[in-house]
Amino acid sequence: MKAPSLSSGTCCIAGGGPAGMMLGYLLARAGIEVLVLEKHADFLRDFRGDTVHPSTLEVMHELGVLEEFLKRPHHRVPQARARIGDEEIVLGDMSYLRTRCRFVALMPQWEFLDFLAEQGRLYSTFHLRMQMEVTGLIEEQGRIAGIRGNTPAGQVEVRADLVVGADGRNSVVRDCSGLAVEEAGAPMDVLWMRLSKHADDPELVAYANRGKALVLLDRGSYWQCGLSVLKGTAEKMQANGIEDFRAGIAQIAPFLHDRVEELRDWSDVKLLTVRVDRLRQWYRPGLVFIGDAAHAMSPVGGVGINLAIQDAVAAANIIAGPLREGVVSVGDLAKIQRRREFPTRLTQRVQALMRKQVGGSLDDSGPRRLPWPVRLLERTTLPRRIRTRFLGVGIRPEHVKTPDASNARSAGPVTHNPEM
Ligand SMILES: Cc1cc2nc3c(=O)[nH]c(=O)nc-3n(C[C@H](O)[C@H](O)[C@H](O)COP(=O)(O)OP(=O)(O)OC[C@H]3O[C@@H](n4cnc5c(N)ncnc54)[C@H](O)[C@@H]3O)c2cc1C
Repeated sequence: MKAPSLSSGTCCIAGGGPAGMMLGYLLARAGIEVLVLEKHADFLRDFRGDTVHPSTLEVMHELGVLEEFLKRPHHRVPQARARIGDEEIVLGDMSYLRTRCRFVALMPQWEFLDFLAEQGRLYSTFHLRMQMEVTGLIEEQGRIAGIRGNTPAGQVEVRADLVVGADGRNSVVRDCSGLAVEEAGAPMDVLWMRLSKHADDPELVAYANRGKALVLLDRGSYWQCGLSVLKGTAEKMQANGIEDFRAGIAQIAPFLHDRVEELRDWSDVKLLTVRVDRLRQWYRPGLVFIGDAAHAMSPVGGVGINLAIQDAVAAANIIAGPLREGVVSVGDLAKIQRRREFPTRLTQRVQALMRKQVGGSLDDSGPRRLPWPVRLLERTTLPRRIRTRFLGVGIRPEHVKTPDASNARSAGPVTHNPEM
């Protein structure tokens, strides 16, 4: 069995999610041989978050592909409002931003990832291997020298000057790296379901009441609904029966009462476990982590994808030069952590605060009301301006500094079932 041949100066990225695909595209665009490995056969997975933030749209503009990107199916959300108990608040109003696009684009994530793959494929140095699951790391003299993986055709080894772990919150690469993880604690899980959308539905994105928070993502003909529940309580809800669950949904968002019957049984409700953590050190010689693999994000505020993209942009800015020269030092990798650790920690902290403020304590079953000082403050624009900045742009927005090194763009294929 032959491993794919990569010449020196190469980068192998484990995971074709937002972080891995964006980094792969940026490095290939900068003329660097890059191989992205994705365990699934396609990007068609649900429940991964559909939010493309103004800062990500800004990155698309800097890359010169914004117009093309916005041709993909999407829904624009210039303002996000929520109902907390009996009160309605503006969570974020993108018109306050100075970015080119003053809206969040709700785009199915497979469209977003497919777009990045399409752009990457325009460069001959971009290689994407689907159906290749990374299972281990190759270590030589204390340095990570490549990865081991499984494909439908059997086991393979890939050698590279740099391995990037971008394989998400259950990262195998992270488990194999031996690096220490700090758990930040996530008291909640999320139950996902679909309910049909009617033309006269309110346009609120979140409801919080009686110890529960329900988020609604507009998918055109239906709502993708996410109900936050206290960790470990999903089993109890199941034991209480689907009728009880339906009544609970209608109680939080009363306009849904006429369609909760669409949840026929528990097979229509998916449980997604939430974890929030971060690596103490994001790198080892020959290996660095970005996105959820470096710091698993909670769904609160829908900012994890943005953070993953910003990590990718920062990482490309820092390592493109050293990769081109064929020597990536530990110092270069440490720069990525120094650049991205502060926004990560602060974002995770703000997410925890938002969960407490908007969702309430999840085990509280009484009616929800914001404390009076918060209600008073909500009468001013200050809190919504701060939230808008956090939700729309993030804490340290990154800008593309890598060049478009290839004038002669040529197509490199996506390999779905690589012969190796
Ligand atoms: C329930 C829930 C809802 C969320 N909703 C939102 C939202 O609306 N908006 C938002 O911004 N954020 C949301 N988030 C957070 C967001 O999903 C993550 O922060 C973001 O996807 C991180 O991107 P990533 O590329 O680092 O990782 P991922 O998106 O997890 O991508 C990792 C990729 O690696 C692949 N992979 C995994 N293991 C391997 C392996 N061994 N070999 C090869 N490939 C592998 C996976 O298939 C996947 O394609 C949500 C999180 C949860 C838990």
